[in-house]
Amino acid sequence: MSSHPHIVLPWVVRRTRLPLLSLRCVDCGSQSATTGEGRFRVNANGKLLDVWLLVRCVSCDRTSKLTVHERAPVRSFDPAELHGYRVNDPELVASTLLDPLLARRGRFTLDWTGAWRLDTPSARLDDAWPVRVEVVFDDPVPVRPERLIAHGLGLSRSEVVRRIKCDIPLHRSTRTGFTFTVMAGD
Ligand SMILES: [Zn+2]
Repeated sequence: MSSHPHIVLPWVVRRTRLPLLSLRCVDCGSQSATTGEGRFRVNANGKLLDVWLLVRCVSCDRTSKLTVHERAPVRSFDPAELHGYRVNDPELVASTLLDPLLARRGRFTLDWTGAWRLDTPSARLDDAWPVRVEVVFDDPVPVRPERLIAHGLGLSRSEVVRRIKCDIPLHRSTRTGFTFTVMAGD
């Protein structure tokens, strides 16, 4: 690297609410479901527990259950976790919904449209090129770097292609942190 950026800006991607689920409703055929406020159902059967996360079709309100634990021994649960299921702890609802394993088993994908934001520090970029930006993900929101950068810097897509140096492909969606460097404009 010949040029050493002397400014590093932190950008943070974080959710603003829970994402919807792209999940086909067996009643009305809608492709969208919500966890709403977030509710678990816990069913005890002897020493075994079933835990489900309840989701609701956004069109017809039909409720369905996503399996979180199936016939799991009660003593295999951390008491705090079990309490969390019983009181519908919002953090536990979020971590359960965002666990890729739940999506794979329940055959849904998360719909992040309108459910996240990008926080950027307000900084004047005019006289300090090149600038390095570190993007951190507080939540695993899939974003396309070229769109995120265009939005965050107020640049056109062609400017992004011309002025951004990045170690990951700009057009491919990612949900983990990356850094890029903004070169001076013409
Ligand atoms: Zn429905």
